[in-house]
Amino acid sequence: MKKPTVIVVGAGVIGCSLAAEFARRGATVAIIDAAEAASGTSASTFAWINGNDKSPEEYSLLNFLGVQAYEREAQRGGRWFHQTGMIQVAQSDQEAQTLETNVARIAWEDYGARVLTRNEVLELEPSLDPTRITGGAIYPREGWVDVETMCLSLLDRAIQSGATFLPFRSVAAVEQSHLVTVATDGTTQRHGADVIVVAAGNGTRGILANAGIDFPLLDPAENAEGAGEPGSSVGIISTTGRVQSGIRHFVRANGIALRPARNGGITFADHPTGGKWAKTDPQVWTVPGILLERARELCPALRDVAVESVHLGTRVLPRDGLTIADWADRDRSIYAVATHSGVTLAPHLATTVVDEVLDGVRHDSLAPFGLARFAAI
Ligand SMILES: Cc1cc2nc3c(=O)[nH]c(=O)nc-3n(C[C@H](O)[C@H](O)[C@H](O)COP(=O)(O)OP(=O)(O)OC[C@H]3O[C@@H](n4cnc5c(N)ncnc54)[C@H](O)[C@@H]3O)c2cc1C
Repeated sequence: MKKPTVIVVGAGVIGCSLAAEFARRGATVAIIDAAEAASGTSASTFAWINGNDKSPEEYSLLNFLGVQAYEREAQRGGRWFHQTGMIQVAQSDQEAQTLETNVARIAWEDYGARVLTRNEVLELEPSLDPTRITGGAIYPREGWVDVETMCLSLLDRAIQSGATFLPFRSVAAVEQSHLVTVATDGTTQRHGADVIVVAAGNGTRGILANAGIDFPLLDPAENAEGAGEPGSSVGIISTTGRVQSGIRHFVRANGIALRPARNGGITFADHPTGGKWAKTDPQVWTVPGILLERARELCPALRDVAVESVHLGTRVLPRDGLTIADWADRDRSIYAVATHSGVTLAPHLATTVVDEVLDGVRHDSLAPFGLARFAAI
């Protein structure tokens, strides 16, 4: 049977993963982005790969399936997943007790989470200041992703399999099976396909509004001012210059999380909240300095290194905070994917969404993440 032709809108981590999978499965696919690949939220993410402490359980499972999809990809030679394991540090007896409860709460035995003694933490992560550690826990299947390498590699893979990439073309209108793009020089172009898959991050709502669809994503403008619902925050991701920090794992402690960075430095962010800031608040620029001090307290080798880059990212947040992957119109010509934790979820969403679009098979793990759930809200 002839495969449908597909346009993927958005070349972030979700769109690039989808495009590579569509192309691998023999579909004719074009990828359109208003800018370059990996320039949206996927450029300002912490990229922690995990199914840790997420609720409800079906969302946690979806994330764990994402972790497993990265493991399979790494076995096939993907170079972007750094499965360092995550060490959560306890800095008081009370924190150590909370950690024990958290480890016991992880529903899957094969997630491998286990409590560590203080000595075990320091053996695994000798870069940490021993005077700051009471105990800890390890989550060995977690890690981080070099998102830029991932997106560009997947895009390249898609192109090698016959896909077309159209950067710097903004989608201005969508009708059934057609869309109109405007290039940066103002020229417009009409594109057609059997199926349009919108994976445009915070641009998804506006694109679907053009097709007359009210898509339940928090307004990015609201989001950017930090005025949305809890969690609809701007997150601040900072990276130091190159440094011999000795950090081997993804490490979290109260108030700070850090991991190795693609430039040989350390990437760090606030933890557990990730912060709740307005992009326009001048105070935002004091945050990297405050967090670097916290990172130095935990890891003294960061003493002399400075912050090299700071990214302010606006989370892609469906109204209930959970993933949306579903047909957006009755005729099944427009499919939409929008989610937070999109880096963790991308490889699993790619295979399951492509199964649904090409073969009409909806994977069990996607069942709770359709649009029908918003009808009752
Ligand atoms: C601070 C922060 C920390 C995070 N930490 C983590 C984490 O640790 N782990 C994790 O798994 N996830 C994390 N996330 C979430 C994750 O980064 C996002 O879910 C993911 O990057 C979303 O990818 P996307 O492809 O859907 O969107 P994007 O990366 O935003 O890509 C969408 C693309 O669509 C394009 N586009 C938009 N509008 C149009 C238009 N009209 N026409 C054409 N193109 C258009 C944009 O240019 C963009 O390239 C974090 C997010 C933030 C902000």
